Amino acid sequence: RELVSPDAEGDERLIEAALRPRRLSEFIGQARVREQLSLVLQSALLRGRPPDHVLMSGPPGLGKTTLAMIIAAELGAPLRVTSGPALERAGDLAAILSTLSDGEVLFIDEIHRMARPAEEMLYLAMEDFRVDIVVGKGPGATAIPLDIAPFTLVGATTRAGLLPAPLRDRFGFTAHMDFYERAELEQVLSRSARLLSMTLPGEAGEEIAGRSRGTPRIANRLLRRVRDFADVRAEGLITRDIASAALNLYEVDAEGLDRLDRAVLTALLRRFGGGPVGLSTLAVAVGEEPETVEVVAEPFLVRQGLLARTPRGRVATAAAWAHFGLPVPPGAFG
Ligand code: ATP
Repeated sequence: RELVSPDAEGDERLIEAALRPRRLSEFIGQARVREQLSLVLQSALLRGRPPDHVLMSGPPGLGKTTLAMIIAAELGAPLRVTSGPALERAGDLAAILSTLSDGEVLFIDEIHRMARPAEEMLYLAMEDFRVDIVVGKGPGATAIPLDIAPFTLVGATTRAGLLPAPLRDRFGFTAHMDFYERAELEQVLSRSARLLSMTLPGEAGEEIAGRSRGTPRIANRLLRRVRDFADVRAEGLITRDIASAALNLYEVDAEGLDRLDRAVLTALLRRFGGGPVGLSTLAVAVGEEPETVEVVAEPFLVRQGLLARTPRGRVATAAAWAHFGLPVPPGAFG
């Protein structure tokens, strides 16, 4: 699997669970989201009522699942976890909603991928804590209303733009998660190193943080690769040079661009003269789904000032040409 892919699978899930902050006060970065969320939670606790439903949007690996767990922990409420793709039929959702306990937090990851009938059931549940169970088929079908326990929905999405307005409007609060600053990732790394009983000098942490694509999941993963490298080649000693050599070996460049990021940019520069080019054409050129290019690669490239999304298509910036040491062709921005 890709070292810098923002998704986690298998064993990594276990390590991630161990490194996850449990309380809001332990959660690093995202200062604005943390403060907003803390107010929402504290006021709900004061009133003794479940808080408004919370939507979290942003690229993968920034801590949406972690925050959902923290919300439940701060409220002292149980947490139920599911995901959009698992809710194929309204019945899948009804089975969950009808067994929620009072005040429970329901986390739906990838909520934009939920099937339509389930989505419609969710509207009523979010608003009135009620579901209509449809019995029978065709003209004889009847809807039996069923009260459910007041709960808090926490939805996570990498594509807030894909959520239908009626669903989006039913969230009382939307947390926009953004890439982490380098200094914040350094804090994530030193916390993880402590939990993993590693000695990580500040300089080495800085080196890893700078190559982590603004993403805590990637920072934690690169930390483990640096540890492997140090264990095998340097008797466990981690220095800036060791970290840098390890990351070079794993093809993470100095800006933290991974293979997909570089493929997107080189296609844009070399095959399309810097653009503008449409998303689907660009995706075909790198052999990926348009959604992967749009959700995984582009947000970071935009944030690094290497790529711009314009009404006419994707365009490489002057910084992108410079990153690959290429001269900007005449007329590239005209
Ligand atoms: P996905 O949507 O792909 O599941 P996510 O946005 O839900 O990603 P998480 O699974 O919550 O991301 O976080 C990934 C890892 O990054 C976790 O193991 C956690 O340890 C770490 N992490 C995320 N945010 C923070 C943070 N603010 N402070 C410390 N560690 C963090």
